[in-house]
Amino acid sequence: MPNDIEMANRSPTCYCGGDRDLSKVEVQCCLCLRFCHHDCISLTTGPMLPFMTNYQFLCKDCSPAKPEEQFIKKTATFNQLCTTAIANLTQQSSTQTFFSRDREIVPFIDEKWDLLTFSQKKNKPTLHASIYKALGREDLFVSSDIAGEIMIALRERSLEKIGPINEKINEIMNPNANRALSPSTSNPVLSSSSNMIPLQTNQSGNGTFHGSSSANSVTSLANSEVTRRTSKRKLASENSVNTKRRGEIPKLERLIPKSFPPEYPFNKEGYRYHLAEPDPHSPFRQKFDETEVWAGKPIPGHLYRTFIENECLLSLNDRAQQLKLNDDRLTVTGDKGYCSVRSTHCVSHGAWYYEVTITSMPPNTAARIGFAQHLANLQTPIGTDKFGYSWRSRKGTIFHEASGLHYSSGGYAENDILGFLIILPETTHPDVMLPRKYKKLPLVKFKNYIYFEERDDLRTGEANLKAAKGGTIIFYKNGINQGVAFTNIYEGNYYAAISLYYGATVSANFGPAFVYPPTDSPIPWKPLAESITEAYCTHALNDLLFHLSHDEQDIDPKDPTAIAKNLDRNSTQEQSRRLTTLSLPLFE
Ligand SMILES: [Zn+2]
Ligand SMILES: [Zn+2]
Repeated sequence: MPNDIEMANRSPTCYCGGDRDLSKVEVQCCLCLRFCHHDCISLTTGPMLPFMTNYQFLCKDCSPAKPEEQFIKKTATFNQLCTTAIANLTQQSSTQTFFSRDREIVPFIDEKWDLLTFSQKKNKPTLHASIYKALGREDLFVSSDIAGEIMIALRERSLEKIGPINEKINEIMNPNANRALSPSTSNPVLSSSSNMIPLQTNQSGNGTFHGSSSANSVTSLANSEVTRRTSKRKLASENSVNTKRRGEIPKLERLIPKSFPPEYPFNKEGYRYHLAEPDPHSPFRQKFDETEVWAGKPIPGHLYRTFIENECLLSLNDRAQQLKLNDDRLTVTGDKGYCSVRSTHCVSHGAWYYEVTITSMPPNTAARIGFAQHLANLQTPIGTDKFGYSWRSRKGTIFHEASGLHYSSGGYAENDILGFLIILPETTHPDVMLPRKYKKLPLVKFKNYIYFEERDDLRTGEANLKAAKGGTIIFYKNGINQGVAFTNIYEGNYYAAISLYYGATVSANFGPAFVYPPTDSPIPWKPLAESITEAYCTHALNDLLFHLSHDEQDIDPKDPTAIAKNLDRNSTQEQSRRLTTLSLPLFE
């Protein structure tokens, strides 16, 4: 009989409950990781082939619009085209894994082009050159010269693992190898450890969970004052009355948020709150769900994950409380002194754009708008510290680390439509690309919902700041590029950020439709609204990596003897692969 861990970690099957069928088209949900038979989903995806990875699918249980599934097909890269082609050739042949580059792989892609992608097919020489180049990727393909013919196999031997999520994991684990221009420039150290991580957790493990459950406990925030800490900290709803006994938690169903609740704790005074929802992939999840009464029992943080809003808006709780946010959550009005609000979603790599319309700017009011990391203080204008970059309405100066510099002449005023473009390097370190580790944070309860409580660590945050080579911010006024405002900005996760002084009102637009979409960005940009799918993926990956790393036997990744001992004990290749991944910096 399978044990709890095994049960909890197996991704759900297709809706029909049936097994995988590699001979047919299947699509993988990027949140619960299940593969669904193409015949079983209700969406029409257009023509597809098995083993495609150039899409994002959310199943009917995971889609924010549930029970309506979501499916976005993307233009396939040549790496993806080659992977799909060889996987199909391998599946069709029961014996072969190596296939002739020129006689089999190139003709396959050529023939099935319209099923594989929707971009225009290149002319023959260009097409061949692109395929050859992709097949040179040593982290994805193995090539061999057999009797003078170039033969290629997939490095990933388990066809059932081919899907968009494993591809994403590989990409995040090997940021340099993935984006290398040619195989010769790829980092040999990274290439050698580029095996994909098996999605299944250790089924022969000792069943011990090394989570941080003892560090977590649920504390009710709904009381008028939190006395848990020595400093007295008043919370948002000072006059709310909590009729429930402290520590008494209602049944699980009532704690599952469908959207951001109407009452919430604000991020302030160095604390921030992340709405949490049950994590279906957590080991022991099921056992915990079946426990009727939680009273007095600590809820381990690893049973929860952060709730991600399904629309990019201005954040309800990641803002200065005195700012007035409209019901549309895009329009915001200032109060007295400068204070700020961040967007719900952030970006860590690539180019992203959003717009702000200055709806009303009476005399003696002002705005500073731009981008900020999560540690930027919301009770000051963005740009007061090292974590934000802004553009001022008065005089058009730019503002960072509390100093202003001349930028655009004249600033901006009522009815202006401003554009904000941030360009972050693609080769961002996985630690920056992945969200922060929420699962070890304490859980607190506020008005029937559970939140991770995070304490801002400004000192560490500042110490870790590193200039992102090529990181650039450009501002636009009514479609006109005002020039590069900031270069070599710090690496990190950036939110759209708006600061207002007295009663100015502005309205944000995160896309996808813009009044003045930039035409002169050095690299292709995306509307900030599109960061949502990326957020789903990176959070799912982060949680997955947490469960994988915490399901391991408790070994110190820096202690080679401990790893060697474990390698002896678990002799299968799968085991040694997983232990190898533990020594990557991601887990430190
Ligand atoms: Zn099915
Ligand atoms: Zn799903």
